[in-house]
Amino acid sequence: MNKLITTDVLIVGSGPAGYTAAIYAARANLKPHMVSGLEPGGQLTITTDVENYPGFGDVIQGPWLMEQMKEQALKVGTEFHNDIISKVNFAKKPFGAITDSGLRFESKTIIIATGAQARWLNIESENKYKGFGISACATCDGFFFKNQNIIVVGGGNSAVEEALYLTNFASKVTLVHRRDKLRAEKILQDRLLNHPKIDVIWDHKVKEFIGSDEPLSLKKIKLINVNNENEKIIDATGAFIAIGHDPATSLFKNQIKMDKENYIITKADSTETSVKGIFAAGDVKDKIFRQAVTAAGMGCMAALEAEKFIAENY
Ligand code: NAP
Repeated sequence: MNKLITTDVLIVGSGPAGYTAAIYAARANLKPHMVSGLEPGGQLTITTDVENYPGFGDVIQGPWLMEQMKEQALKVGTEFHNDIISKVNFAKKPFGAITDSGLRFESKTIIIATGAQARWLNIESENKYKGFGISACATCDGFFFKNQNIIVVGGGNSAVEEALYLTNFASKVTLVHRRDKLRAEKILQDRLLNHPKIDVIWDHKVKEFIGSDEPLSLKKIKLINVNNENEKIIDATGAFIAIGHDPATSLFKNQIKMDKENYIITKADSTETSVKGIFAAGDVKDKIFRQAVTAAGMGCMAALEAEKFIAENY
């Protein structure tokens, strides 16, 4: 028989949104339970330097920041489960959830903070230089590439926005796109194509990232032409992969409203989803900002809204 846990607030996911929700819910005496998910700590655990999370005069490390958030959430009374939710039921009240290890939750509210994952090219050399020249977030890491040659891979709004943003730091930005047409909005395309610091290499894919081992750092990038398979090597010490994100929402399919890209839809200025009592915070509902600090803000909103929901409905 599965162990049953009844609670006021169940938080699914343990990134900045989840931990902030936990801190606020615990301090409201709601004794929240948090189920960590596949990647405890979320996307910040795979970054290195963090310079844009307010409150720290010195550069901090992403994994350290997440440990601090966890410690704070536990200190104020969050019950933490290193586990994965495998099934949810939003059709009955209280809502139901089951974990891989056999825990069964019944909760008055659920806060979904499962985040999103950047898509990667999935070539071997990419793994080697992730965090050492290769990034999937220009806002997070662009600052570290002052006066360097960098490439951005992709042809959508994110790639074009990131390329434009990176011109603030880099000496030259090369957008590498696998087709001869961009998917990005026309106005962004115009800005990109007219920017003196930006070049575009059309019809090419990255074949290999090349660099040094000590210190581990990216130096060159081998590209392949998708039409004739000709290869060329360009100098670049940074590469930003901007080929889209996938929100972690498959668990909630058919239980809650999502947009066509599977991001959870919430009401304006709120974390309330299409099911009353279920809230969504952070990258799982946000394809625009995707920052730790915005996710944390939404986690706070979700906890306050959950508290209000419980007061009004139970
Ligand atoms: P996206 O629109 O899906 O574009 C992904 C780009 O990456 C496409 O150009 C695609 O090429 C390319 N790509 C995908 N897989 C690849 C691979 N394996 N190798 C090389 N290239 C690959 O993703 P996004 O730009 O992240 O945008 C996601 C959503 O957020 C969109 O709806 C977008 O409009 C929205 N967004 C909006 C704003 C804004 O409004 N300011 C800003 C950012 C994002 P193909 O073109 O050949 O498919």
